[in-house]
Amino acid sequence: MTMPNSTAELDRAAHLHPYTDARKLEAEGPRVIDRGDGVFVFDEQGNSYLEGLSGLWSVGVGFNQPRLVEAAAEQMARLPYYHTFAQKTHGPAARLADKLVEMTPEGLTRVFFTSSGSEANDTVVKMLWYFNNARGRPEKKKFISRLGGYHGITIASGSLTGLPWNHTDFDLPAIPVRHVTSPNAWQNARDGESEADFAQRLADELEAVIAEEGAETIAAFIGEPLMGAGGVIVPPEGYWDKVQEICRRHEILIVADEVITGFGRTGNLWGCDTFGIKPDVLVMSKQLTSSYMPLAAIAISDEIYQGIADNSARHGTFGHGFTASGHPVATAVALENIAIIEEQGLVANGAAVGAALQAELRRRFGDHPLVGEVRGTGMIAAVQLCADRSTRRALAPEGKLGGYVFERAHDHGLIIRNIKDAVAFCPPLILSEAQMHDMLDRFALTLDDALDWARAEGLV
Ligand code: PMP
Repeated sequence: MTMPNSTAELDRAAHLHPYTDARKLEAEGPRVIDRGDGVFVFDEQGNSYLEGLSGLWSVGVGFNQPRLVEAAAEQMARLPYYHTFAQKTHGPAARLADKLVEMTPEGLTRVFFTSSGSEANDTVVKMLWYFNNARGRPEKKKFISRLGGYHGITIASGSLTGLPWNHTDFDLPAIPVRHVTSPNAWQNARDGESEADFAQRLADELEAVIAEEGAETIAAFIGEPLMGAGGVIVPPEGYWDKVQEICRRHEILIVADEVITGFGRTGNLWGCDTFGIKPDVLVMSKQLTSSYMPLAAIAISDEIYQGIADNSARHGTFGHGFTASGHPVATAVALENIAIIEEQGLVANGAAVGAALQAELRRRFGDHPLVGEVRGTGMIAAVQLCADRSTRRALAPEGKLGGYVFERAHDHGLIIRNIKDAVAFCPPLILSEAQMHDMLDRFALTLDDALDWARAEGLV
């Protein structure tokens, strides 16, 4: 029984939730998360959960890092807010921009701030339109994205996203975008097709789409180095080399959406390092502040910067920006968060514990009757559930098994995320090896429950 005026009751009566079945929430009420400690969070009843997804793929330094609290409080006391319009700035925004230029891959020379990944990708669309207009190429405006890709939910970023639930009944896409096939081998590789052949088929499709649309109409190709919200999709060997070669040849810019993959998630500082990508634009958020404050950043090449700068001079302003662009508290927290990542060697810890995580997931669950494949690299992985590994057949209806595992995991003190029947792991970068084993023990119990349930229901 929930008490009247309890958090759950207030929430149920007044709060429309993102990414939630509103009728199910009305019926069941929310799960109230109350506090955090390291890699654990606690609900109102005091139950603890190992946060296997770092919140939303984001809390790299864990859930009670006092240095971030101090950095925020100090900045709040000194200058809680100032903007960065009209030639104003402040210390945290300037220092963070400088730090990110130093940290990001070679060739990226300027940084623009927003508060969310969606705003950042909307900004990328507008920046590249503005840039191409400035350069006298007003027809070069289309984007190529991938089915299964996730780039946000605002009008432009939601258009770039390639997931059906973000488009259907939202009247998206609403900008000129072509979605090409996802590099998801579980879903899209043909029987007997090698990794190299799969990568080549995707490259051939990209060439064909560019030929159909006309390269002179295409501004950029956007992709996550490793797809996150689309199911943790590691591209086939050679994929990014081929995509980049094609795009360069056709003067199509490469936008790397590193909102999930940035700051050590894939075993290197950037997903671009892991997959050999040389981006013209790099978008980051989430682990930039460990989500203690909302912040995203876009790093751009000098070529793009010069085009935008020229056009801003022509118009007397770059007519784009947010009240919270470079917010002092958010940028101060980001600077401290990056200092912690560097001082505590969290990229290296993510690489080491991540390598062990990948090996253990495969060893412990690779042959489980409900598991089709295990994929991932570094501190991000997915276990693909299915009814029959040899035919890659889902247990019908698709997503039901994943949903069951998601729910049951709570009973074993584990929070994970299912994307249909793919169960994603993306634990905090501070995870120790012992905690990694603890996480997988909890998952093993969950999977045993799922097998009992599937057998009892006559599903397998
Ligand atoms: N890009 C990627 C790769 C993401 O994973 C996300 C969020 N999961 C976004 C963009 C959008 O970020 P936000 O939710 O902050 O708008």
